[in-house]
Amino acid sequence: MATESRNGDNTGAAIVQVIDVVRTYRLGSSNVFALRGVDLTVAPGTFVALKGRSGSGKTTLLNCIGGLDRPTSGVIEIFGRPLNKMSESELTRWRREHIGFVFQSFALLPTLSAYENVELMPRLAGKGRKACHQQADSCLELVGLTKWKHHRPFEMSGGQQQRVAIARALANHPSLMLADEPTGELDSTTGREILGLFLRIVKEQGLTLLMATHDPLVDEYADLIVRLQDGQIVTAG
Ligand code: ADP
Ligand code: MG
Repeated sequence: MATESRNGDNTGAAIVQVIDVVRTYRLGSSNVFALRGVDLTVAPGTFVALKGRSGSGKTTLLNCIGGLDRPTSGVIEIFGRPLNKMSESELTRWRREHIGFVFQSFALLPTLSAYENVELMPRLAGKGRKACHQQADSCLELVGLTKWKHHRPFEMSGGQQQRVAIARALANHPSLMLADEPTGELDSTTGREILGLFLRIVKEQGLTLLMATHDPLVDEYADLIVRLQDGQIVTAG
């Protein structure tokens, strides 16, 4: 069975290639166009901000890129691999191995400690006990939460919870991180800390980050800003 190398064998090749992607949703008797022909190429090791108003299609695009949703037409290739050729079970496994997700509302499991939330990811990926433990500890250290590892989400601030979620997203060493409005529920000081942490992770770990946001602070951190309007990219630069 073929497996992809982490950042691809040919450095410089696109990590994400979105080709003429359309996504429509059926709403009663009419179609809602969430994406109307999106083309996007993302180079490895970059921090890309996906900006645009509410309803412009950011979440839909991230979900299609991460394999949580499927385009109505068009192709998405990640590390040169077309997602539409994968079955649901292949896609689930692939997602676990290669993609880290971070959401606005943190989406942590409330009854588990920070450590247990992070450790669950390598466990679901079938890693051994020792590897799970090491990965959870090193990811919590990376986000500066070693001292908080035994606390549960409700005992932590919003910024700390988002750090746990980032550690969880990193736990299987993904090549691509997708973050949907990760600073949306944080005050601007905490938002800055989180954006700084994302930037450090991109630079130190060499991974690629695609972040949907309408937070103006992101302009200072991202390598590339892509603007979506009514399901179409209006500017990239
Ligand atoms: P954003 O993340 O930029 O706010 P979304 O991708 O969530 O935008 O939504 C884009 C458009 O698609 C909106 O008009 C939204 O109402 C519509 N949409 C998204 N998901 C669905 C769905 N599951 N069913 C119907 N319409 C949807
Ligand atoms: Mg959204």
